[in-house]
Amino acid sequence: MFKASPFKLRMYETCPQQYKFSYIDHLDKEYKKPKPYLTMGAHVHNALKDFYEQLEPEDRTYERLEKMLRKRWLENRKGFATREDEAKWGVKALNMLRLFVHRMDMQVTPVMLEDYYDIEVDPTLKILGRIDRADQLEDGTLHVIDYKTGKYTPDDVSNLQLILYALIVSANQKRPVTKASYLFLPTWEWHSVDISQEEAEAAVDLVKEQVEQIRQEKEFTPTPNTYCKSCDYLPICPARAQVEVMIEAGEL
Ligand code: SF4
Repeated sequence: MFKASPFKLRMYETCPQQYKFSYIDHLDKEYKKPKPYLTMGAHVHNALKDFYEQLEPEDRTYERLEKMLRKRWLENRKGFATREDEAKWGVKALNMLRLFVHRMDMQVTPVMLEDYYDIEVDPTLKILGRIDRADQLEDGTLHVIDYKTGKYTPDDVSNLQLILYALIVSANQKRPVTKASYLFLPTWEWHSVDISQEEAEAAVDLVKEQVEQIRQEKEFTPTPNTYCKSCDYLPICPARAQVEVMIEAGEL
């Protein structure tokens, strides 16, 4: 059974060599280093999960959310260079949560919250993803929302990912998902797509094609890209020399 996630497929598309290091050679444990933005992002997601799971709408205040973030923060403080660096990331997190309480309708309770969900496409393929939340729309259909804790960049947006999340939620909740969005928490920018049956079917076909390509792959060619700078596998990457020259020249 091949377990495909939008994250995994995107990694293969961006750099097959990185995909190989991670999913075929299983070198994450050895090479993956904690990153401040990942630690901060995880805490924001977990605090928002606690916020909705533990509080009734009338109790959803910024002060309660801040307390939940601080509690989560103490569980993992890895990846920060110094105390000052950690404080800087903490302020970023608090700012986005303040904006969240200010802009989001606190009366709405999501029908699904932060967790891993999957669908079985056929006996050889599962698609899985971490769903941040799904809300019910006025017509009874669902809206999937994926929180982003970094600023909007076109590279962070994938309509395919949104459509796959919509498929996963629709199958799990047994009702249609008609909209899927990224919500960029630092700036409150939205990127939304309407979901149609045709697009959903096309997305599944695309995943099947990509998975077949991965199954047939022999080369796993390293492909220099904008993420090389933060790639944990750079020290062992066969294209390391080329990547370093490109980074030095400001091309990546
Ligand atoms: S450093 Fe760049 S080219 Fe090398 S594995 Fe990482 S992402 Fe791929």
